[in-house]
Amino acid sequence: MTFDEAALCESLRNNISKSGYVKPTPVQKHGLPIISAGRDLMACAQTGSGKTAAFLLPILQQLMVGGVAASCFSETQEPEAIIVAPTRELINQIYMEARKFAHGTCVRPVVVYGGVSTGYQIREILRGCNVLCGTPGRLLDMIGRGKVGLSKVRYLVLDEADRMLDMGFEPDMRRLVGSPGMPSKENRQTLMFSATYPEDIQRMAADFLKADYLFLA
Ligand code: AMP
Repeated sequence: MTFDEAALCESLRNNISKSGYVKPTPVQKHGLPIISAGRDLMACAQTGSGKTAAFLLPILQQLMVGGVAASCFSETQEPEAIIVAPTRELINQIYMEARKFAHGTCVRPVVVYGGVSTGYQIREILRGCNVLCGTPGRLLDMIGRGKVGLSKVRYLVLDEADRMLDMGFEPDMRRLVGSPGMPSKENRQTLMFSATYPEDIQRMAADFLKADYLFLA
């Protein structure tokens, strides 16, 4: 599969070539068709494998096709995609990649993370947010403050799941997945990425993903 064969819209294809990506990496080649087909996925992939584009491209494609720009008049934003990663650096990388691919389209990604004041992040959310990238604690904070509603979530991505567990984020991840309004696993598409696949990750995959999820290693 090439990027041209991936049935992506013109603005995405342009933004991909502007990024200098010519050939999909293996996780993109195998992951893109699975995610585009709407399947839940547990993928073992390291940082540097190109996994970020593997999940962002099909999600952005779906949001762009028939997508409606997020309303900046709403006091609670209802993102269609939530992407979670354990650290500020990682979530920022994902956000920068999302911004690059969404450039010139109606999709507006926003990033939130802890350790800084919430004021700017709240203003950014309220300007309109279809794709919310965040660290677990700050995402829960924004949901708790009523700035983010979950009822329109179609995509949930848990990146670096093994590091999230190592850093003690399992309760926060469970709280996020069980937050009021979050569609059940049958009613959303969930994607998990992890460098390793120990028992606690397998258990989490069984809890968060549909029973017929695909596994990519
Ligand atoms: P990731 O594993 O998603 O953190 O990506 C690692 C790095 O590879 C990032 O700097 C990406 O910009 C880059 N990258 C991802 N996919 C491709 C591709 N198909 N061709 C060239 N570079 C890529």
